[in-house]
Amino acid sequence: AMERYASIRDEPATARCGTTIGLHMNAGLIADLPSLPSSGAEGVGLFRTELQFLVRNQMPKRGELESIYSHVMDSARGKRVAFRTLDIGSDKVLSYMKPTDEPNPAMGWRAIRVGLDKPGVLRMQLQALIRAAKGRPLSVMFPFIADPREFRAARDEFDKAMERERILGHLLPESVEVGAMLETPSLVFANDSFFREVDFLSVGGNDLKQFFFAADRENERVRRRYDTLDVSFLNLLDTIVERCRSNGTPLSFCGEDAGRPVEALVLAALGFRTLSMRPASIGPVKHLLRRAHLGEVRGIIEAARNRGHHVREAVTDWIAAQPPA
Ligand code: PEP
Ligand code: MG
Repeated sequence: AMERYASIRDEPATARCGTTIGLHMNAGLIADLPSLPSSGAEGVGLFRTELQFLVRNQMPKRGELESIYSHVMDSARGKRVAFRTLDIGSDKVLSYMKPTDEPNPAMGWRAIRVGLDKPGVLRMQLQALIRAAKGRPLSVMFPFIADPREFRAARDEFDKAMERERILGHLLPESVEVGAMLETPSLVFANDSFFREVDFLSVGGNDLKQFFFAADRENERVRRRYDTLDVSFLNLLDTIVERCRSNGTPLSFCGEDAGRPVEALVLAALGFRTLSMRPASIGPVKHLLRRAHLGEVRGIIEAARNRGHHVREAVTDWIAAQPPA
């Protein structure tokens, strides 16, 4: 599939209206990294660090993590990599951790909740990331932040880890960015101060959608029941874009929807300027964005909303009516 889009691989995703969308890739294993140059991604918008933990049968050591993260940064050759700290629990269970018996694991003890309650692993991970970055920029984001206090506590762990490294006389990262994943509706309605204190926000659309519609993303019976382009979800996304714009918060979207061309086009029309997706989606998404006029798409979306029509149908019809590339 990547060969089909090879001719635009090194071209920017600039729409006909002149707006450029940054296309980044999602990754989690060393084996994903060759896709960075071959896909034309500008960076890694989501590095799911739990995959390194899931492929083992014992807790990795700090030194091992440090060399893995260092290798990831080496392979990225200066492109930005947003490392997401451990997101376990829910559907991702570590064989070497005591199993928890929870009736609703997706809403249970997972991600940053585990990281803050049992901070040993989070601290080890942050130290490994800081050491791996030495002299290079470092970008870290915390998963499943549902309350600004969780972000503050996690960021505090990061600041303490930096301070420890400084006292030890180790070379620090050249610069740091500490962001949060926006994956629960609660965070959309957090105070402005939260939007100003994060260095960036990345929408985890898979989780955000499951909690918005109360529809388990793992449950075949319900997972396709609600459309990402449903008006109520688009209103939520509009609110996110507006709140980030008014507070000057850098925003990206990294759920699976970012890699679906029609959804990606709608996200761009709503105002998302950075999308992160599986590497094979970058070509098709870029191809469509380059043919589109975002203002026109925005108009199509507004008209469909006002008339109570399906946004998906209206946008799909608009795409079909465009002249070929
Ligand atoms: C998401 O929830 O959209 C996301 C990117 O994280 P994950 O799919 O790993 O939960
Ligand atoms: Mg998620």
